[in-house]
Amino acid sequence: MEVTFLGTGAAFAPHAYNSSILVDRKILMDAGAPLTVHLPRVGVSLDEPRAVVLSHFHADHTFGLAWLILGRVMLNDRPPSLSIYGPRGTTAYLERLLDLAWGEEMRRMSWQRLQLRVQELADGDSFQLDGSRGQAFKMQHASRLDCLGFVIERDGVRLGYTGDAEMSPQLDALIEASDHVISEMTYDAPGGELHLARKDIDELMTRHPSVRFILTHRGGESSVNGAVMARDFLTLQLPLH
Ligand SMILES: [Zn+2]
Repeated sequence: MEVTFLGTGAAFAPHAYNSSILVDRKILMDAGAPLTVHLPRVGVSLDEPRAVVLSHFHADHTFGLAWLILGRVMLNDRPPSLSIYGPRGTTAYLERLLDLAWGEEMRRMSWQRLQLRVQELADGDSFQLDGSRGQAFKMQHASRLDCLGFVIERDGVRLGYTGDAEMSPQLDALIEASDHVISEMTYDAPGGELHLARKDIDELMTRHPSVRFILTHRGGESSVNGAVMARDFLTLQLPLH
């Protein structure tokens, strides 16, 4: 399994772009990065991703979709179809995002030409994703939003992705179901809300010693012993050795 980071910064990080992770050049997990620039920069055309998995509806995880969707339609007479997976409310959220970004007419046109298929997921749901099995886990992050993390199984690797998360039993369950986990670490120092801090990562790594941690959604640039610190445009081959 190949994982490429297209954006690794927390929402307001000064050192890195917003969240997006490309798996095997075909699956995007979150879409906060400027995808019309960052996909070509890693040698992937806008047409190659087949599916996008959204963890939640904050701008730093989703706004790049407006460019991916209309860009794919504008740059290709016959754009390939696109599937989108996300929490309950994803269809309505995408409609509003596209209406705001490009207007209702462009939204209808791009939705139809991409044969956009949306699958809304809840805690515990299994789904099929480009030949892989996926499972959704409810994450605790913003109380008024449905927020999900995921585990996808591909090439014998169980890859977890936390999206944005605070400490919770479901976060432990997600990590337990993974052998590699891409986890957020927003705060280098203790004391923040809505997200994980370095001390939380230390605790989680102690509780799950056989899981490899890859840290993203970073507000700072510190490093954690024993974890891979993701940075924009880093590519990893999993399993890690
Ligand atoms: Zn968020």
